[in-house]
Amino acid sequence: MAFSGDKLPVGKETHIALFPSSGMGHLTPFLRLASLLLHHHCRVTLITTNPTVSHAESRLVSRFLSSYPQVTQIHFNLLPLDLSTVNSTDPFWIQSETIRRSAHLLSPLLSSVSSPPLSGLISDVMLVSYVLPVAQTLRLPNYILFTSSARMFSFFAYLPTITSISNVGSVFDGEDLHIPGINAPLPRSSIPPLLLIQNSLFADMFFSDSLKLSKLDGVLINSFKGLETESLETLRSRKLMEDLPPVFAVGPFEPCEFEKEEEDSHSDSDSSTALAKWLDEKPDGSVVYISFGSRTALSKDQTREVGDGLVKSGFKFLWVVKNKRVDKEEKEGDLEEVIGEELMEKIKENGFVVKNWVDQGKILGHKAVGGFVSHCGWNSVVEAAINGVRVLAWPQHGDQKINAEVVEGSGLGMWVRNWGWGGEKVVKGDEIGEKVREMMESQSLKLKARDVGEEAMKVAEAGGNREEMFKELIGDLKRKL
Ligand code: UDP
Ligand code: UDP
Repeated sequence: MAFSGDKLPVGKETHIALFPSSGMGHLTPFLRLASLLLHHHCRVTLITTNPTVSHAESRLVSRFLSSYPQVTQIHFNLLPLDLSTVNSTDPFWIQSETIRRSAHLLSPLLSSVSSPPLSGLISDVMLVSYVLPVAQTLRLPNYILFTSSARMFSFFAYLPTITSISNVGSVFDGEDLHIPGINAPLPRSSIPPLLLIQNSLFADMFFSDSLKLSKLDGVLINSFKGLETESLETLRSRKLMEDLPPVFAVGPFEPCEFEKEEEDSHSDSDSSTALAKWLDEKPDGSVVYISFGSRTALSKDQTREVGDGLVKSGFKFLWVVKNKRVDKEEKEGDLEEVIGEELMEKIKENGFVVKNWVDQGKILGHKAVGGFVSHCGWNSVVEAAINGVRVLAWPQHGDQKINAEVVEGSGLGMWVRNWGWGGEKVVKGDEIGEKVREMMESQSLKLKARDVGEEAMKVAEAGGNREEMFKELIGDLKRKL
């Protein structure tokens, strides 16, 4: 990372507390943000919850803290949650709700922070309703990090102003929702399915938290001009709505040094060495990387079709298989059982398959990787964008179709809409193979994705737009001291 930090606003030291919600999709961007804030000479305090849902989270927190000993850690102990009051079986959602309902206990922890006292709190978008009152009582400026796309944020900010939780279906003009200042309408089919389930934790959070946005001091989004030019312009100029707080496009967040796992730090080191060797031997741009992120498990049937499709594509591929939502439940030796011996033999001719955590940042930055079949978790999209790697979008749930629209609209990749949400149907190997081939062979996608990557580099370089955004943010915080 390079900065021309000499032009930062001068004055008292800015000390920021960061409070992520659960899951790698939240923790990772918070820690990347922490790293950027440290580079901009801020002090950082990290609020950590114990235990985490996944091993990946606890490993990442400890690597982060040992890389940055100057960061203060607040251990936040959660209250037990009465599961009969929660309409979800997803451990990540349950943890997020547990954090929300424990948030009032943060007050004494935050007010005891000294030398220097806190200038502000950046908390997770998932926590707004419960953290904001704490910040208000302490008179602490409260910003949020929105952990998805600017397009998703526009939808989040806008929808609850025009309808209620029980009436979402009423706002469509035919099949589309028109959002002020955004050209491409949002199709009904892209709405996160949980939003249409009235008493889901997601719908409840979405509606109650969104209406409090105007009380926040600001919203940070891991995005940048070039990937989401129109949405960011609409949000920053308040074309979407008058009373939005300032929006800071602080992306792209690139993977950091501390994310790299020591070669011998866990039992998968043999496989990660073999993987690195395998990739190093492949020609530039020849490999398709396929992963559905940290918390999406495909069914056994779909997994086998994916394997079949990758084999049929004729391209070399690196495939991360996941059949449990939480890594703690994954079992060694499952791989052959899930994929089957026959398919495994075919895979070995052209592919490399793993069933453990990989260093995705490193993989997407490897010159052998030319394409990415992705579920379009927002962090994955931004990581592909930074590296100019083209994407075949295969959204599975949540905000991912809205992010896939960004992938398609920005030129970063393509999306086969009729594959639907994950689990809606089993997409056949023949079709998967054909689309993978189409993505890999498309010269125009290759060039457009490269352009997005170049734009990302420009934004992130010293004196670029991202640095401007950090100066704006830190200036804003200093004015409130
Ligand atoms: N990730 C990784 N290795 C894996 C799986 C995921 O490094 O084996 C990282 C990925 O690079 C991204 C994050 O975990 O930074 C997942 O976040 P994303 O928003 O892409 O999807 P989610 O997992 O939240 O669905
Ligand atoms: N392989 C894989 N996943 C792994 C390890 C190996 O898919 O975690 C496959 C891959 O296709 C690789 C082949 O097995 O090219 C041979 O791997 P390696 O050279 O590491 O092992 P060995 O030759 O000893 O079986």
